[in-house]
Amino acid sequence: MEELKFEELELCPEILKAVKHMGFEEASPIQSKAIPVIMSGKDVIGQAQTGTGKTAAFGIPLLEKIDPKNKKLQAIVLCPTRELAIQVAEEIRNLAKYMHGIKVLPIYGGQEIVKQIRSLKSGTQLVIGTPGRVMDHMRRKTMKMDHVHTIVLDEAEDIETILEGIPQEHQTVLFSATMPKAILEITKQFQTNAELVKVTKKELTVPNIEQFYYEVKPKNKEEVLSRLLDIYTPKLSVVFCNTKKQGDLLV
Ligand code: AMP
Repeated sequence: MEELKFEELELCPEILKAVKHMGFEEASPIQSKAIPVIMSGKDVIGQAQTGTGKTAAFGIPLLEKIDPKNKKLQAIVLCPTRELAIQVAEEIRNLAKYMHGIKVLPIYGGQEIVKQIRSLKSGTQLVIGTPGRVMDHMRRKTMKMDHVHTIVLDEAEDIETILEGIPQEHQTVLFSATMPKAILEITKQFQTNAELVKVTKKELTVPNIEQFYYEVKPKNKEEVLSRLLDIYTPKLSVVFCNTKKQGDLLV
């Protein structure tokens, strides 16, 4: 089984209409695998990178699970950055375009909190948030967790406090491009009998990108990177760092 038609996924007509409107012809591999498992209510570990259609892979089942008549907060997606939170909220809003009575709200730091509180009070059922600001709202009791039944961790790290604040009975869906030790620890601690769905290795990377790696001692990283930049003088490039501190140092 690789790709399914959206019609084969037992989705409501409003979502089918939305995916057609968005120009999706058939479900991507991660969507074909993850959507039925998430809809079954199981805890899920999804291994898929950005660009594979992973947002809709968890977004569609979330929308299927939300009861539009219940105006309480029902599901939370945690994203590591505000840019991602905004992007994910936008994609889910597009998917929900033809559904009535579903309110999706991005919640992130740097945005006026009073405005957020007002929106939260006006019947938001799905929050797409960054961990810091979500924890802030939990402390202020402006985000009530008692009706939350589903939580999606989209590459989030700072999550223990949040998971501890939601009811025992809930579904936890975790998406990550890689499965390092720290992520595996989270799955062990916070998920029960989680099912792993992943797209096969060949689909994990983008085919038209050639990949190289250099093994270097940590203390030599800056030096080596400087040399590489000197040699290749790339017009545009992206450097990924493990920590904020590393990023600041490198800049
Ligand atoms: P993501 O992996 O969630 O970042 O999605 C990457 C891009 O693919 C987004 O612009 C989506 O709107 C788009 N996309 C998601 N699912 C599909 C699909 N089944 N067919 C075509 N495009 C899709």
